[in-house]
Amino acid sequence: MLRTIAISSNRKLGPIAATYRSGTHETYGTCPKTCGLHPKSETGSAAVDFDYLRALLDAVPRRGLAWTYSHFAAAMLPIAKPGQTVINASADNVAEAIAAVRIGRPAVLAAAADTADTWPRVVEGVRFHRCPAELAENFTCAQCGNGSPICARPGRTDVVVFVAHGSGAKKVGTGKGGCYAAGGPAAIAWHGTKKVGSPNDAAALMSFARSLPSGSMLRHHVAGDIGREGAA
Ligand code: SF4
Repeated sequence: MLRTIAISSNRKLGPIAATYRSGTHETYGTCPKTCGLHPKSETGSAAVDFDYLRALLDAVPRRGLAWTYSHFAAAMLPIAKPGQTVINASADNVAEAIAAVRIGRPAVLAAAADTADTWPRVVEGVRFHRCPAELAENFTCAQCGNGSPICARPGRTDVVVFVAHGSGAKKVGTGKGGCYAAGGPAAIAWHGTKKVGSPNDAAALMSFARSLPSGSMLRHHVAGDIGREGAA
């Protein structure tokens, strides 16, 4: 199920377009079972939804840009061609992030709360630095990179670090949960996707991307992933 939002009110994103993706039955139904942040991995997916993935790559607003993140294995994620959606590999630890960069995937890291003061740093030649929205009040993705948000840059070799915060922060890095969308406004929007979202995710996504004004930014699946619900 796909929920589309033309102008997000998410404090971190800023006023850009966004989507949420859930399963039909389970909110986490499109997330990989293997995600270390997934609080109930038995409800996740073991396979990619290739219809959605194809649409995702091409769902870029005219003269605009689009990006997202995935917790599926980095090697399974396509490398964006010019004009396609940039899919960042979400890593649960430093080694995973470095491995993703080595195989040509832009990567981000969900880091434990007690690492906050250890960034930026370079590990095995790979630079890790915190998302600037975590370091400044009222800074959003819409402002990031002066029109070229860091996470939307294909071929990026530096790793963006998101340090855990909020109610699930203690679980991040333990492999037992900590998903940032497990609580708060993101959880409300995501759970609601099961009721109000469009059932044909690929078609809804293409239609939405085409409807956006020229030059728009689109953040795909603020919560949710590229999985096929029910794939065991
Ligand atoms: S690095 Fe920039 S684009 Fe990525 S999440 Fe942070 S503010 Fe948004």
